[in-house]
Amino acid sequence: MQRVRRGETIMSNDKKSPYLIAQEQFDLAAEFMGLEEDLRGILRVPKRELTVNFPVRMDDGTVRAFTGYRVQHNTTRGPGKGGIRYHQGVTLDEVRALAMWMTWKCAVVNIPFGGAKGGVVVDPTPMSMRELENLTRRFATEISPLIGADGDIPAPDVNTNQQIMAWLMDTISMHSGRLESAITTGKPLGLGGSLGRSDATGRGVSFCVAQAAKFLGMDLNGAPTIVQGFGNVGSVSALMLHDLGCKITGIGDVYGAIYNPKGIDPHALVKHMKKTRTVADYPDCERVTSQELLELQCDVLVPAALEEQITGENAARIRPKILAEGANGPTTPEADKILFENNVFVIPDILCNAGGVTVSYFEWVQDLQSFFWDEGEINKRLKHVMDSSFQAVNERAQAHKIPLRLAANILAIERVAEATRLRGIYP
Ligand code: NAD
Repeated sequence: MQRVRRGETIMSNDKKSPYLIAQEQFDLAAEFMGLEEDLRGILRVPKRELTVNFPVRMDDGTVRAFTGYRVQHNTTRGPGKGGIRYHQGVTLDEVRALAMWMTWKCAVVNIPFGGAKGGVVVDPTPMSMRELENLTRRFATEISPLIGADGDIPAPDVNTNQQIMAWLMDTISMHSGRLESAITTGKPLGLGGSLGRSDATGRGVSFCVAQAAKFLGMDLNGAPTIVQGFGNVGSVSALMLHDLGCKITGIGDVYGAIYNPKGIDPHALVKHMKKTRTVADYPDCERVTSQELLELQCDVLVPAALEEQITGENAARIRPKILAEGANGPTTPEADKILFENNVFVIPDILCNAGGVTVSYFEWVQDLQSFFWDEGEINKRLKHVMDSSFQAVNERAQAHKIPLRLAANILAIERVAEATRLRGIYP
C-alpha cells in the first residue's frame, strides 16, 4: 500500500474517495428515477464548503496548526444537520460525502433538515482534555459563520461526544451573549440534551434489524452477530441486538477484534472497556483482525466504524443474512453489486443509522420550545419513524426488485427534488 503524507495526515491512496462513491450512488438513483439534468447538477455537489486552518495552544506551551472543514450539502428542506468528526484520516472529500449522505438520510426519514458535516484532521487520542477543549472552541469559532440553530446544527460523530458538543455550544453562546442551546445536538442532559439521544443510533439499528428479520422470516434468537466498532453506535447496537436475542459472537475496534462462537456478553464487555479502553484484550476469545472479523460466519453483521470496509475485494466472502450499516459509507458500490447477487439483505446507512439524527431532531425541537419530553415518548416516536421509513424503503425495493440502498436514495432524492422544484431557482 502506497502512503502519502499530507500535513499531519497519513492517508492511503489506494481507496476510492468517499465523495466519488456518494456521487456514484447518487448518479445510479438519478438515472433510475429519470431525474432532470438541472436537478442532477444541483444535487450531486455540496452547496457550501468551508476550510479552516487554525492554531491551538498545547499543554507544553507550543502552538500547533490544524485543518478543519464544515460542508453543507443541501439546505432546501431545512437547516444543515450533521456531525463533527475528529480523526487523522479526515479529508474534504470525506466530509463532502458524509454531508451528502446526511441530506439523503434526513430526507429518507422525512425530518425537516438538510445535510451537513464537519471534521478536524486530528488524532485526539493522545490529547489532554484542555487541549481538546482549546481545539473545539477554536474550531467552533472558525466555523461560526456557517453554523446556527436555524442554519446548520452540528452533532457528535467519530471521536466526538457530549462534552465536545457542550464546549461548542458554550463557545457560540459566549459570542452571542446568550444561551444558544439549539445550536448543537447530542449535548449532555443538563444542557438541553435529549433523553434517549446517546442510544438513539444503535437503537435505530436494532429496530431496522428486527424489521428486516420479520420480513425475511428469520428468528433472531441465538442468531450469530458480528459488530465492527464498539464506540457509540457499535456498543449500543451490540447491547440492543443482544437484548433482542442475537448471540454476539464477534466484536472489533481500532485496536483489534475478538471472536467467541459461544457468544460474548456485550454488557460485560462495556464494563471491561471502561477499564482497558479496548475490546481487543477481552478474555476467553480468539483474536482476529478487523478484516477477518467481517468475513466470519454470521447471520447479522453490523459495521459501525468507518467507511469502505466492505469492498469489491472482500464482499464475496461476506455472507450474513442481514448487513445493517451502523457506520456511514461502510460498503462500496462494487461490494453492493456482489452482496445483492448473493442475496445479502443490506440495510443502507442512510436508513439504518438514521435513529441518531431523528432524536437529534427531537432534541432540537425540545430546545427551541424549552419543553422536554420523557424517554418513553422519545423512544416511541423514534420507533415510529424508523419502522415506517423501513417499510417505505423496503416496499419500494421489493416493488422494483432493487437493492434497499437504491430504493432509499430514490425516496430521499424525490423529496429533496420536489422541495427544490417548489422553491424554484433564485433569483
Ligand atoms: P465512535 O468514535 O464512538 O466509535 C468508533 C468505533 O470504531 C470505535 O470503537 C473505534 O475503535 C472503531 N474503529 C475506528 N477505526 C477502526 C478501524 N479501522 N477498524 C475497526 N474499528 C475501528 O464513533 P461513532 O459515533 O460510534 O461512529 C461510528 C460510525 O457510525 C461512523 O461511521 C459514524 O459516522 C456513524 N454514525 C454515528 C452516529 C452517532 O450518532 N454517533 C450516527 C450515525 C452514524
